[in-house]
Amino acid sequence: MTQPPVPSGSVYSGPVFEMARAQFQVIADHLEIPADERDRLLYPKRAITVSCPIHTDDGRGAVFHGYRVQHHLTLGPTKGGTRYAPNLEIGEVAALAIWMSWKCALAGLPYGGAKGGIALDPRALSRHELESVSRRYMQEMIPFVGPHTDVMAPDMGTNEQVMAWFMDTYSMHHGRTVTEIVTGKPVDCGGTAGRREATGRGVAHLIGRAFDRLGIAPSGATAIVQGFGNVGSYAAEALAARGVKLVGVSDHTACYYDPRGLDVPALLRHAAAHGVLAGFSNERAADPATLLTQPCDVLVPAAVERVIDADMAARLRCRVLAEAANGPTTPEADLVLAGRPEIFVIPDILCNSGGVIVSYFEWVQDLQQFFWDETEVTNRLYRLLDRAFGQVMARVTAERVAHRTAAMAIGVEKVRAAKNLRGLFP
Ligand code: GLU
Repeated sequence: MTQPPVPSGSVYSGPVFEMARAQFQVIADHLEIPADERDRLLYPKRAITVSCPIHTDDGRGAVFHGYRVQHHLTLGPTKGGTRYAPNLEIGEVAALAIWMSWKCALAGLPYGGAKGGIALDPRALSRHELESVSRRYMQEMIPFVGPHTDVMAPDMGTNEQVMAWFMDTYSMHHGRTVTEIVTGKPVDCGGTAGRREATGRGVAHLIGRAFDRLGIAPSGATAIVQGFGNVGSYAAEALAARGVKLVGVSDHTACYYDPRGLDVPALLRHAAAHGVLAGFSNERAADPATLLTQPCDVLVPAAVERVIDADMAARLRCRVLAEAANGPTTPEADLVLAGRPEIFVIPDILCNSGGVIVSYFEWVQDLQQFFWDETEVTNRLYRLLDRAFGQVMARVTAERVAHRTAAMAIGVEKVRAAKNLRGLFP
């Protein structure tokens, strides 16, 4: 794949940004998008970089670097999570924002994509320091965000508590409570029932749809889940509720494998008590390097980007690859998977879209101050997921393309159509 050069002056670089660019090129070629339209669709509208100084617990000070990338504002406000990670760079944030755009468009949400974050290790900060840097980050972002401009949410390294601090900081500035400024808040301060579980539940629901197509009975089918944070843990729980047997699981601290099945409620209790999987079991400890290539019916990468490269793709032994993380599979791996039609890929922008779908429901409920119960939230979630899944599969059949190509083509096409209808201002 030869890539066109990044336009001079662009601040975006790095392997994750290159990956988003390479994926876009595949779609743009497939849709025969003229060269002069491509950069307009791909490059983010805005990128904000802030420094966040705080008082640390030892009485000194520290400065943390924060980012927010807003990809396009063509369909409504931008929407996306906030990531706290030690090596966070703007190129990675931009790639994640671009993926949010295709994800929201595929699900039919009235949003462009965004993503933000702070380069820090949340585990290395005290609760007080984490609150200070979170509040300072939101304070610095106030000129650039708003319920109709850009709506933040959690991502890796952040949680409901961080969203509550964001909402409170924005609200204090405005002199009134503005719950609709972020989603993924605690239910007790404007969050919605079912948001915390939404991404994992959506992943399990779509795995069920893939199993239906392949004639795999969920009861007794086997799963391996990489990552046991908000997404992986609820996906494991929802799969177990459908009778799927979890044979392998890992997080950044531990890896377990047992072909007889792992005790999911016990894993959930352990993670809730200790924050990590380390210390759960000695007998079942396994090598994380080989976890993804163990045989299973469904493999669920639910951690970070680029864990499945070409070499790994050639060695996978799953029937379904359910991409719960953003960007787990590289474009080179996609080329390998194109020659392995026996693996049914549920591409990330479809597979993990349950999170942003229920974020949309939270935003709608906050704007209307009219709240739904969990059953209503979950039923509406499944309806939107089924619609998107049906559209992707119809396109796969009609155009004989890979699942990712079909999913991204639908997303890119919607953004492109809206841009062309609105025209170029001035
Ligand atoms: N961070 C999540 C994602 O990558 C959720 C975004 C949201 O809820 O806005 O999809």
